[in-house]
Amino acid sequence: MGYDDQNIFAKILRGEIPCDKVFESEHALAFRDINPLAPVHVLVIPKGAYVSMDDFSANASDAEIADYIRALGTVARELDLQESGYRILANHGRDAHQEVPHLHIHLFGKRDMKGMLPKQA
Ligand code: AMP
Repeated sequence: MGYDDQNIFAKILRGEIPCDKVFESEHALAFRDINPLAPVHVLVIPKGAYVSMDDFSANASDAEIADYIRALGTVARELDLQESGYRILANHGRDAHQEVPHLHIHLFGKRDMKGMLPKQA
């Protein structure tokens, strides 16, 4: 699947749409989810045009990958989540119900997240 540069996170990266930014590095941006599912719900995205983790891991440079992973950890530390804990999650494609086709990792914290996934019907 090609990259759609009209997706909402591409517009945020171009500054066409505002975001509630919590962190920015050379290759990554982190901002609060507009529809939070936890007291802390942040989306961490690479600045490059990647749809998914498989796309990113195959096509991003080592510098982009290192910066992105470090950004995730930095956000967790800066939001003081190491002690209470946090969950990271990325949806890709149909089965995971990805809504925005630009790689994003959700970072959730400051609530009890109980089980991994709802049990299958
Ligand atoms: P996903 O199902 O993993 O693709 O989730 C996309 C997420 O993006 C959802 O949690 C939305 O609430 C969030 N979202 C959509 N538009 C915006 C926006 N303009 N600013 C921040 N978060 C957004």
